[in-house]
Amino acid sequence: MKQKEQTKVVAAVDADATKTNNDYISLFSVSKEQLRKLNAFSRKHVSCQRGAIGGAHTYEFSPTSLGVVVKLRCHCGKSIDVTDYCDW
Ligand SMILES: [Zn+2]
Repeated sequence: MKQKEQTKVVAAVDADATKTNNDYISLFSVSKEQLRKLNAFSRKHVSCQRGAIGGAHTYEFSPTSLGVVVKLRCHCGKSIDVTDYCDW
């Protein structure tokens, strides 16, 4: 992401945080279809969880100049790319 675009994102985040007076803000979101795919992958890899508290899955949100790449990685090595490239 270009420096100018990053500055716009940070400014927008700061403005939203001020409006809502909330300590927590959401930087990324997924569509219902993306969520369905993420949940299906997560269920398929539920046995890969480690220890009593899990922690096997890593969600990745990578902003680009065209859109946000969304992936879910399991510590077993498999991953799923649920990026909505048609929306770019
Ligand atoms: Zn797995």
